[in-house]
Amino acid sequence: MKTIAITGAASGIGAALSKRLVEEGHRVIGVDVQQADVVADLSTPEGRAAAITEIREQSDGVLDGLVPCAGLSGLPDRAGSLLASLNYFGTIDLLTGLRGNLARGDAPAVVVLSSNSTTTVPPGMVPAALIEACLSGDEEAARKIADDVGSLPAYPATKTALAHWVRRKAPTSEWIGEGINLNAIAPGKTATAMVAEGRADPLIGPAMDAFPMPIGRDGQPEEIAALITFLLGPEARFIVGSVFFCDGGTDAQARPDDWPRPQ
Ligand code: NAD
Repeated sequence: MKTIAITGAASGIGAALSKRLVEEGHRVIGVDVQQADVVADLSTPEGRAAAITEIREQSDGVLDGLVPCAGLSGLPDRAGSLLASLNYFGTIDLLTGLRGNLARGDAPAVVVLSSNSTTTVPPGMVPAALIEACLSGDEEAARKIADDVGSLPAYPATKTALAHWVRRKAPTSEWIGEGINLNAIAPGKTATAMVAEGRADPLIGPAMDAFPMPIGRDGQPEEIAALITFLLGPEARFIVGSVFFCDGGTDAQARPDDWPRPQ
């Protein structure tokens, strides 16, 4: 039995993953703003600090896995700063705050939730300055840029920054050097509350319905949970710093020859 902390555990991908891991006999510590073992607002530094303290207490200081799923998508009337704080800093602060607890775990692994919006939104719609502010750890600057550009472009920027953070950190002495496998996944459009919220918006809804899905349907949260479960498990120990697209073919269709690319 492993002890795995999951943020955003009350809904969608986090809920599907929690259910599956509990059914497989693991102990899940769910974190969310609602209906969770640890109730915390991960969009604020205080909420993140409280969540880290509570996760440490509930896990007796030893974690075997961490999956930060909590996140919000862009909407015309949603502040970009909320996405910068929740999606990026709400993930990274927990990863850095709990790294020592993971290092004491049994074959520990972390799976970060990026998104295929990182590569599939139209060119010029992912603000580089926001990616850079996130990666430099400057939450105040990131919040300001995100408010300036709005939450629609802020979403793929926060998710790109997460993927780059994982690629930078995973092969270092702090992560795989401590035996912690760090990877990211990039889901495509998946049938959760997040997507339902976007579909209900008069501006975003039609664009979501027109989003190219070569497989001909949305993903199911259980399909994303299956990939995360594999990456947390014993057969994925050689996988370090990868970003797995799980999106019904959208990324491959959008940029078939972009990757892999020689240095
Ligand atoms: P969801 O809306 O079903 O779940 C998100 C969860 O985050 C909810 O339980 C919500 O309560 C929680 N949350 C929101 N604000 C919070 C806060 N301030 N503090 C703590 N928790 C908070 O969404 P989902 O689709 O399951 O998304 C999970 C992750 O997957 C997100 O990071 C999302 O960006 C990513 N993702 C989703 C899709 C998709 O199409 N659904 C695609 C790519 C990536």
